[in-house]
Amino acid sequence: MKPIQDIFSLLPDKRKVVITTHQKPDPDAMGSSLGLYHFLKHFGHEVQVISPTNWAAFLNWMPGCELVLDFERENEKALQFIAAADWIFCLDFNTLSRTKKMMPALDEASACKILIDHHREPQTEKFEWGISDTGKSSTSEMIYDFICNSGYSDKVNMEIMQCLYAGIIGDTGSFRFASASATVHEMIADFKRKGLQHTVIHEHVYDNFLENRFRFIGHVLLNRMEIDYELNTALIWVTKQDLLRYDIRTGDTEGLVNYPLGIQGIRLAALVIDRDEKRKWSFRSKGSFDCNTFARTHFNGGGHYNAAGGERDESLEDNVQRFKDVIKNYHNQLQSH
Ligand code: 5GP
Ligand code: MN
Repeated sequence: MKPIQDIFSLLPDKRKVVITTHQKPDPDAMGSSLGLYHFLKHFGHEVQVISPTNWAAFLNWMPGCELVLDFERENEKALQFIAAADWIFCLDFNTLSRTKKMMPALDEASACKILIDHHREPQTEKFEWGISDTGKSSTSEMIYDFICNSGYSDKVNMEIMQCLYAGIIGDTGSFRFASASATVHEMIADFKRKGLQHTVIHEHVYDNFLENRFRFIGHVLLNRMEIDYELNTALIWVTKQDLLRYDIRTGDTEGLVNYPLGIQGIRLAALVIDRDEKRKWSFRSKGSFDCNTFARTHFNGGGHYNAAGGERDESLEDNVQRFKDVIKNYHNQLQSH
């Protein structure tokens, strides 16, 4: 993978560009994709954002979201864009498998693939150019760096700021995680000076749910959460029936895994959801528990040090049992220091 700086001088030449991200895009995935979209449109490129799957309704306010293609819903159209592209930007994911059903088309595309991402252990051999920096708070921050380092910081407009801001609050937990560095705050200061109104964005992302989601969270925290104070670990499981009963949609479970971390002493929170085809895991930790390695080792997943995910085929009960069996071996890493 050649350094991303190598494409800066090529930016003004008009191209067919596809921008894609991981399945079930979160605010950072969608925000970085649309932020880059608005930037590249300045040059007159033909740009198409394609999401591998659908996304949460709380992202629909983002400028340009109405133009994003859902690969599963508009498959043929999306395949045509991928086949015709000169460049494909791959944002906020480290391995092509994170694009699910889109993976074969991406792999076979003749386009130059460009990676911009902050996850561990990227598949660098799949990309012509790119940057992978696990020290970055978010891919949205990396898009800001990309714009500024390429010498076009004057092109940062309101649309770009709104999209990137949403991505950054998503991945930094509204500036509370360790990843909210000085450079993140400097970038936001730049946005504020340029006139960004940030409170409306928080409202779009966090105050935009329906009542059923809160009833669901109440039910889950009361009936589906187990705490092990020996291991300083909380486990939440969600059944198919729970999802049906509360009419839970994509995005409604976002943030659920964080609740138990608010309990004194809890170092690891794990959440497993009985989705249609797979049992999907989320892991969040505080301090020195490596969620990435844990998810990789036991749950076919990965991510970051303090936040990772994974998935397994077997039943919800078997997944819960597997977690309880393996977590016992991490007693030492889970003690408070
Ligand atoms: P979440 O729990 O919000 O779904 O994901 C947390 C982090 O782990 C995100 O950075 C996400 O990209 C990563 N992640 C989630 N699920 C998977 C997975 O199945 N495989 C890999 N490699 N990473 C995942
Ligand atoms: Mn991200």
